Amino acid sequence: MAFSQIRIVIGIATPDMEYKIPLFDLNYDETEERAVIETLRSKWISTGPKTTEFEATFAKALGARHAIALANCTVALHLAFHTLNIQPGDEVICPSLTFIATVNALRYVGATPVFCDVTSTSDLTMDPVHLQSLVSNKTRAIVVMHYGGFPCNMAPIMDVAGRKNIAVIEDASHGPLSEYHGKKLGTIGLIGCFSFFSNKNISTGEGGMLVTDDDAIAARVRSLRSHGMTTLSYERSKGHTTEYDVLELGFNYRMDDIRAALGLVQLAKLQPDLKARASLRHRYLSGLSEIDDIVVPFNYHEEFVSNYIFPIVLRDSNVHRRDTIRQALKERGIQTSVHYPPVHRFHIYRQYQATLPTTEYVGENEITLPLFSRMTVDQVDLVVQALKDALAWARRSSS
Ligand SMILES: *Cc1c(COP(=O)(O)O)cnc(C)c1O
Repeated sequence: MAFSQIRIVIGIATPDMEYKIPLFDLNYDETEERAVIETLRSKWISTGPKTTEFEATFAKALGARHAIALANCTVALHLAFHTLNIQPGDEVICPSLTFIATVNALRYVGATPVFCDVTSTSDLTMDPVHLQSLVSNKTRAIVVMHYGGFPCNMAPIMDVAGRKNIAVIEDASHGPLSEYHGKKLGTIGLIGCFSFFSNKNISTGEGGMLVTDDDAIAARVRSLRSHGMTTLSYERSKGHTTEYDVLELGFNYRMDDIRAALGLVQLAKLQPDLKARASLRHRYLSGLSEIDDIVVPFNYHEEFVSNYIFPIVLRDSNVHRRDTIRQALKERGIQTSVHYPPVHRFHIYRQYQATLPTTEYVGENEITLPLFSRMTVDQVDLVVQALKDALAWARRSSS
C-alpha cells in the first residue's frame, strides 16, 4: 500500500467527520517507512543504536550536553521533578494555560502546584511579575511552558529563580529549535523536556526527550528510565559483562529504536518544516491584520520559533460566542482546537487557590487555527475568509 493511501488518525479521539482543512497533518513520507523497516530488519527494536543516535543528534541540534530519550514528555517532566528530589510540601510554580501533563507531573512527586497567570492576551506565556509574587520559602522549582514555541520571558524568570536558588524546568514540548536570545528553548533552565507525540513538531507516535547540561542529573535520569539499573541490555549485549546493580527505585520510561528511527528522520526534516510554518504564519498575519476584534498573540515576535500552533484570541467576547465561531468554521470543513482549558479549572485541581483572570479569559476566547508544514497558502486564505465571515455574522447577530 502506498503511503498516501494510509489514513493516519491523530490523537485519541476518532474524528466523526473528514475535515477539508485539518488542524494538523503529519509531515511523513516514504523516508519514515524505510527507517522503520530498516530498524525492524536490524532485529534490534528496543532501546539501542537508533536511540543513541537520536539522542546524540538531538543534543547537537540544541547545543545541549545531554539528551536522554524517553517514552514521552510526561515521564520526562516526572523524572525532572524526581531527580530534583522535590517532595510533598514543596511548591512548584506552574502555568495553568498548558496541557494537563505539565501539572500532573509535579503531582506525581507530591508537590503543590502554585498557578501563575499569563502575561496578556498577546503574550500567552507566564507573567514574570505575577510569578515573583508567588515565590515563597517553599518554592523549589518553576516549570515554564513555551506556548506554541514562543519563548517565555526567560530573563526575569531566570533572575527570580537565581536569586532564590529555585530550579527552572522548561516544558519545551512546543518548541524544538525555537530560540530565545539566540539560545535554544530547553537549554536555558536546568532541565528541558520535549514531546514527540503525533501532533507535535517532531512526531514519533509517542516519545519524549530530557535535555540538561548537568552530568549528575543526566546520569540519574539514564538510570531511572530503566528501573534504576546501572546498565541497559543493549550495553550488556555489546560488552563482556552480564552483571548490573540496581541503585534506586526506577521506572520503565525508555524509548524504543523503532520510534528513535522515526525521530531521526523527523529531526532531519525539522528545519525546512519550521521554515514552511513560518511563511504560513506570515500569510495568516497579513490576512488577519485588518480584523480588529481579534488579537493574534505574539504578533510582533521576530526570533526563529517552531510555530507549533497558530492561536487567536477574540476581543470583548465570551465562551458562547467563541464556540459559535468554532462551529461556523467546522461547518466549512475547518478543524480548530482550544489551547487550553485552564488546568486550575479541572476538577482535581480546584482545591488549589488561584486567581488567573487572563488565563481564564484566554481559556474561553482562544481558537487555534490549522497550521502544519504541508498546509497550502490557499488553505490559509480559506481559513482567513471563513473566520472573517464567521466574525461578521457574529457581529451582526449581536447588534
Ligand atoms: C504534548 C504536551 C505534553 C505531553 O507530552 P507527551 O509526550 O504526550 O507526554 C506536555 N506538555 C505540553 C505543553 C504538551 O503540549
